[in-house]
Amino acid sequence: MQRLSALIALLALGAAAYGQTFPEPRTLKINDRVYVLLGPIQHANRINQGYMINSTVIVGDKGVILVDSGGSDEVGRHIATAVRRITDKPVTHVVNTHHHGDHYLGNMAFEGATFISSEMCRSMVLETGAEWLGIMERDIGRKLPGTKPLAAELTYPEGTRTETFVHGVRVVFWVPRGSHTIGDLLVHLPDDEVLVAGDVLVSRVVPTMQDGFVKNWIQTLDEIQALGVVHFVPGHGDLMTHHDVTALRDAMHGFYSRVKEGFRSGQIAGEIRKSLNLPSWDALERSYVIGRNINRAYLEIEADSFNE
Ligand SMILES: [Zn+2]
Repeated sequence: MQRLSALIALLALGAAAYGQTFPEPRTLKINDRVYVLLGPIQHANRINQGYMINSTVIVGDKGVILVDSGGSDEVGRHIATAVRRITDKPVTHVVNTHHHGDHYLGNMAFEGATFISSEMCRSMVLETGAEWLGIMERDIGRKLPGTKPLAAELTYPEGTRTETFVHGVRVVFWVPRGSHTIGDLLVHLPDDEVLVAGDVLVSRVVPTMQDGFVKNWIQTLDEIQALGVVHFVPGHGDLMTHHDVTALRDAMHGFYSRVKEGFRSGQIAGEIRKSLNLPSWDALERSYVIGRNINRAYLEIEADSFNE
């Protein structure tokens, strides 16, 4: 009997894992054509099933531009369902803000759409797609047989801002110098006063710098503040105001300056961690990345010091 109830418990667990129930996003309406689907902020796990990002839904006259498709084909389909609650127009364009798997492994759910990213993001998807799929499978705790890394065909090079109209919506595709990753793409909607920033902006979580370029990133945050935008959509967490962007910029600048000071006085990363006074980050989701962030900034500062 005991064995039977253990078996039933095990089956129930299996059903939960394979039942493909995903947390529902909070849908936020910015204006009549721009909506944000706010996803969970915890890293991929059994509960969120790899759904851990924000997606932006831009409804044009003949179709939808979706920014970021989620961490698996199933999450992508879950996001597609949420889009259909907003509009019955088809998703014709999918933008991938960067190559981290939680943001683009849902592309498969939108096959046939035009996929857009930075040039570097495309290379990184081809290079690290299998690795990212492995990370998501490990963290979710099961295989994702339907998920394949799909790289964008329409790409923009680093250091460009391209203004175009998609379904009547003025869109600027902006590829700054590598910031959160080597290939970030930001979507600026000047007429809507909206910036969709991928993980170059985050709220309620600590920014992850392990694939980033901290000095460039601070520079990009300065440029973001000068855009004249009102609604800032981060890759994770709540919508941000200009004030929130300034706070993030100041926190990152304070962090970078402290690591630089430590490097110059001969401290090792562990000593810098102890002296880092960042209560605003310590309390956040994913504070465990702070140690890795220090290592990354330290290496960057060290490399720069050879060129000084
Ligand atoms: Zn990321």
